[in-house]
Amino acid sequence: MKIAVLRETQVGEARVALVPESIRKLVALKIRALVESGAGTNAGATDADYVEAGAEIYTDRAALLSSADILVAVARPQVDEIRQLKKGAVILGFLRPLDEPGALEPIVSQHLTAFAMELIPRTTRAQAMDALSSMATVAGYKAVLLAADSVPRMFPMLMTAAGTVPPARVLVLGAGVAGLQAIATARRLGAVVEGYDVRRAAGEQVRSLGATFLEVDLGGLKTEDAGGYALELTEEAMARGRDLIAAHARTADVIITTAQVPGRRAPLLVTEEAVKGMKHGSVIVDLAGATGGNCAAGVPGQTVERDGVRIMTPLNLPGSVPVDASKLYSRNVTAFLQLLIKDGELNIDMTDDVVGPTCVTHEGQPLHPRVAAALEELMSH
Ligand code: NAD
Repeated sequence: MKIAVLRETQVGEARVALVPESIRKLVALKIRALVESGAGTNAGATDADYVEAGAEIYTDRAALLSSADILVAVARPQVDEIRQLKKGAVILGFLRPLDEPGALEPIVSQHLTAFAMELIPRTTRAQAMDALSSMATVAGYKAVLLAADSVPRMFPMLMTAAGTVPPARVLVLGAGVAGLQAIATARRLGAVVEGYDVRRAAGEQVRSLGATFLEVDLGGLKTEDAGGYALELTEEAMARGRDLIAAHARTADVIITTAQVPGRRAPLLVTEEAVKGMKHGSVIVDLAGATGGNCAAGVPGQTVERDGVRIMTPLNLPGSVPVDASKLYSRNVTAFLQLLIKDGELNIDMTDDVVGPTCVTHEGQPLHPRVAAALEELMSH
């Protein structure tokens, strides 16, 4: 069986789906690993490193695609690339099944089996495969460094002969994986940190990192689903959250926003009014840009200045830390691949409690309800 790794071609994407360390593991499972020449260059792995790990290097992208039994990718490949895969092949990567379900049409019509790394269940068994968490960890860390580099003051409190420099104040909105890593990183740099989330359970985690948890009275509203994800809130509950955020934004030097609700537009947390109330020179880094952003004044993929506040909405921070992001992603992918392979052959068990839920389409049949509905709608037009 052949597993293929393409060189990622999206602008700003320096990651690679499998690093040599993982190739070595797969080759030991009697798998042939085909790697496009240059695939790992920006992530610290040369073609020679891949060869040493047991991979075969391809310079012909089309030949690589047409020989793959399993194609592993970071971002969803282009439509013309998907069309070059053979019928029945497996594709695995961040396929964006919830926010761009219609884009999976070529995968369905090509009779491929697709697994979306975003859908790996957040269960104990699947922890080693949880690529969303790995990438959120990298993004949360890097967001703080971006902010620290941009804000016109230092993060730690310093007591010098010239007097005391007060610490910077950082407000982190959304205390999931990215938010908690942002809090930890900002604390390590010495900032005073406040965290906010609609899930009460996040409070304990925020406090355990030495930050203050901002609580808003949501009148006993249910804020999370059985999987631990946030639910979309009522407009009244959202308004209460926004008021609290606006009040704390006044004293913040940096706001990092990370709030998401799976499959929905990112909740709007920082209003134009809140930005107006912020100090001149303060910075917002919005990590929810891919689903519309948490900040009304932000523009996904851009940095804008508004009322003296710099608002950055980077779309791919993990891609800017390619060595470590690739290593983590590659380990997640390899752990998942091991569920699909038995005795060196493809063996897909859809009753497996990780494999089944991660599958968006199996041999041309859309299995995920959201994807199936989106495709039905596409076909009816
Ligand atoms: P996410 O990226 O979907 O969202 C980020 C954060 O935004 C979440 O904490 C969410 O509660 C918050 N949020 C959503 N709407 C909000 C609003 N209106 N205001 C403020 N905050 C809002 O979340 P994630 O980081 O992927 O984590 C989601 C959950 O999954 C968490 O409970 C996390 O602890 C859990 N998790 C479990 C495992 C595991 O058990 N293996 C692994 C990773 C994450």
